Amino acid sequence: MARSCTICSLDTSVRVAVEHAYVEGQPIARIARRYAQSPDALGRHFRRHLAPEMRSTASEARSVDLGSIADRVAAIADDARTAREAAHAAGRTLDAVRAGDAELRALAMISDRLGIDDGETLSTLRDFDAVFEAIASTSWEHPEIGHALAASLAEQGRDDLAGPLAEHADRAEAAARPLTATAERAPLAAITA
Ligand SMILES: [Zn+2]
Repeated sequence: MARSCTICSLDTSVRVAVEHAYVEGQPIARIARRYAQSPDALGRHFRRHLAPEMRSTASEARSVDLGSIADRVAAIADDARTAREAAHAAGRTLDAVRAGDAELRALAMISDRLGIDDGETLSTLRDFDAVFEAIASTSWEHPEIGHALAASLAEQGRDDLAGPLAEHADRAEAAARPLTATAERAPLAAITA
């Protein structure tokens, strides 16, 4: 634990309560208000100092849609910047200030509440989405690949991922057989949930 981390330095009972709130999926901003801690410090602590078993529980509760939420907030920030620049160019100073305020709030949400502090993290999340989509669609077209990937994940001790992926491949095989051709393609969420 880093000595400079203000969250690690809290009384153990408070730190545990803060971490439980996070693992339950409460927004960092709400945890920050309730325990009078800085959102930045909380985000840093949750990213770097959370015990591994809490981290995996937290990621189940929190991260499934993080990429898409972050993308939407980033789009709002981009729209606000475009509006701010247009208003500025047209000499509409008040509108430019208002758009700038919206832009700042969106950027603050990305960094403070979503724990994303740079564009690289956001693009990594998008990359994960792309990889999940590729795994889901490839496993659907080639269930044997899905089963091979599931076996590899199981070898790594990731039965939580291997199980749903194997089921996805099973459904793909069932759908490929003429008599059960009505089976529906499983949504991506089935393997990422
Ligand atoms: Zn810490």
